[in-house]
Parts: sequence; structure tokens; C-alpha cells
Amino acid sequence: MKDFKPANKIQDLQYFGEFGGVNPSISDSSTYTFLSAKTMFDTFEGNADGCYLYSRHTTPSNLYLGEALAAMEGTETANVAASGMGAITPTILQFCEAGDHIVSSRTIYGGTYAFLKNFTPRLGIETTFVDVTKLDVVEAAITEKTKIIFCECVSNPLLEIADIEGLAKIAKKHGIPLLVDNTFSPLTISPIQLGADVVMHSLTKFINGSSDTMGGVVCGSQELIDSLRNVNDGASMLLGASMDSLRAASILKNMRTLHIRMKQHSYNALFLAEKFEADGLKTVYPGLKSHPGHELYKRMMNEQYGFGGMLTIDVGGIDKANELMELMQERNLGYLAVSLGFYKTLFSAPGSSTSSEIPEEEQKEMGLSDGLIRFSIGLDADIERTYQMMRACMEELQILEGDKSLV
Ligand SMILES: *Cc1c(COP(=O)(O)O)cnc(C)c1O
Repeated sequence: MKDFKPANKIQDLQYFGEFGGVNPSISDSSTYTFLSAKTMFDTFEGNADGCYLYSRHTTPSNLYLGEALAAMEGTETANVAASGMGAITPTILQFCEAGDHIVSSRTIYGGTYAFLKNFTPRLGIETTFVDVTKLDVVEAAITEKTKIIFCECVSNPLLEIADIEGLAKIAKKHGIPLLVDNTFSPLTISPIQLGADVVMHSLTKFINGSSDTMGGVVCGSQELIDSLRNVNDGASMLLGASMDSLRAASILKNMRTLHIRMKQHSYNALFLAEKFEADGLKTVYPGLKSHPGHELYKRMMNEQYGFGGMLTIDVGGIDKANELMELMQERNLGYLAVSLGFYKTLFSAPGSSTSSEIPEEEQKEMGLSDGLIRFSIGLDADIERTYQMMRACMEELQILEGDKSLV
């Protein structure tokens, strides 16, 4: 892992525009001409390499972005989609059919959880949700019908760390693929290098980083991506969550600064997490020694990118959480908004927002309390000042006691 350099892989891509532009040209077309009818036929049969057909299949701009993401993750290729869910759901469906079974982490993105819990059973696909930090529990959940293991590297919103190497060993032993959603830890964790088979991202978050568009990607083998795009039975092709070329071009440009942004997100998040913890707040951040997954994360990570931009604190109850978020927004310390990876800090209370798909009882069982605030820490230039201002909000709301020595 230590010798895999994902940012170098992105940097080394050299794409020129049609007229020698420093950025690749954007393909502003939904359909493509063929010089001969025979080539068109061959393309439908999947036998005309390098020919563009129709942009739901793919476009030159989408291929550039896909190649960049495949390079970052170290897979043969990738397929981009209109959103993270537009990448995750067809990939799961490509692997599974009626009668099949999935083993999934129980602490995953609310949308993915709802898809596996409420939607795929309608298609005859059942999921067992497990505590992914317990490898024996994961293995015990595998049956003859299990087709995939699904998890997130850093789980949402509890920031549990999955042992990708351990999970990959179990998957290999049972001859099934390990699918990993790496949205929370791009560059920091390279799941393929740790033995995973397929990596997915919501590009909407850190990778694009400017909260102006949605996007998703599945990175995997050529065989998998070809099957997803197959005109006859490919789930990506047929379900139609295709990315637009203009968006692909803009996300590719933002990807060029991802390594700088990840470092700053991580630097700022670690700074705040250490301060909050020292102040006596219940703080969860993988970069803290108190985090149960800290050592595991250290073993897996590409060090220079740090422990990521996500942290949570527990302020005791939903009313306090709401008051604090409103006050911090009023003081321009961030926005009360879902999503993550923006240059500005974003905060929300997952119990009543992004994880509200998870029934209250299950939330309790997995340790998701209603006073939990999830922060996506922004790129603030002066994080010490941010901390002082956040601390002042907490003192005003009596979440923290005033301490004269700090002012
Ligand atoms: C946001 C998110 C998704 C879904 O992505 P969209 O782009 O919103 O469709 C999936 N997984 C994780 C971990 C996410 O944070």
C-alpha cells in the first residue's frame, strides 16, 4: 500500500484538447456518426473498439474521467454515472439476481441501506446486515447464496473502520467479490491494493469538492465494466443513470486538486478533533488514538492524506445539536446541510437526516445517538480561529463550560 501513489497516477495522465488545449475537449454530442453501417452493427454487438455509439453507453469525456478514477484506484477501468447511487445500485444488481443474498455492513450510507433493506427484497434479493468490524460475524453471515460482500472503508456516519484486507481474505475464501464504497476516503485508502475487487464512489462529495454537481463511479475489471455497459443486459446501460459530458469534464478538472484538498481537510479535522476531545466533548475521529479503528486505519492508509475530513461530536440531545448547528451557521462557521467534501464546513444531525432511513431502534443499537453532529470539515485557512469561534458557540449554549484561560 505504502508504495501505491494514487495522486501521482492522476498527475501522470496527459490529455490534450482537440486544438492542443491543455484540457481535453468536451464531447458536446448525445449521438455519434459511423462511416459505415457495418461498423454501427459491430458496435451494437460490442465488437468495435474505440467507436462511440450513443452517450448513455459512454462518451469521450466520460471515458477521460473514468480513466482518471481507475488510475486513482488502480483498477483496469471504470464507469462513471450520474450520481453515487447511480453507480452503486446497478453494480449491485449486476452481481445479484432473484434468490441471491448479500452480506453488508450495517453502518452504511442511508440511501444504500434503504436500497438493500427495502428495494432489493422486491427483486428477491435478501441482505444480512452485520457489524463489519467483527470479521467472524461477517464470515458467519455468508451462505451458499451470498454473491457479494458490501462495505464502506470509513462508515457513515459512525466512522467505523472496515478491515479491508481481512474482509478481502474472507471474500476470496468463499469465492465472492468484495465491493467497497470509498466515498469518505479517496486517496487516503486504496481498497483495491488491500484486496477489494470493486470500488465505488459518490463523486458528489470530496472528489468533485465544490458541491455543484452529482456524480458516481464504479472502478473494476474490464470484464465488469463491459458487462455494466452491455446493450443487452448491462445494468448501467439499461437503468440509464448516465453522466453528462459537461459534468464529467468539470469533475475531471476538480480531481486535479484532490490531493491538496484532502490534506487540508484532514489537517483541519485532526486539529478540531484533538481540541474538542481535550475540551471533554465526546468526539469520534479516526485520527484520534481513542478511536477503536485508529491503528487499523494507520496500517491501511496512504499516510500523506491524513485521516480524512469527517468527524462527529455528541452534544447530548437533538435540541442542543440543533441549537449549536443554527448558531454556528449564523456565525458563518459552516452550513447546516447534508453532504460532505465541500470547501466550507457542513454539519447535520444524522439521526434525523441522512440516516433517518434507519429505524430508530436500529440506530440505537448501532450507537447512533440523536445528539450526534456529523461534521465535514472545510478548507478553512485559519483553523485555530475557527476553533475559537466554535468553542464560543458551545460555551454560549452551555455545551462547554466557559474557561477564561482560552480567551
Ligand atoms: C453520498 C453518498 C452516496 C450516494 O451518492 P450520491 O451522489 O448522493 O448519489 C453513497 N455513499 C456514500 C458513503 C455517500 O456519502
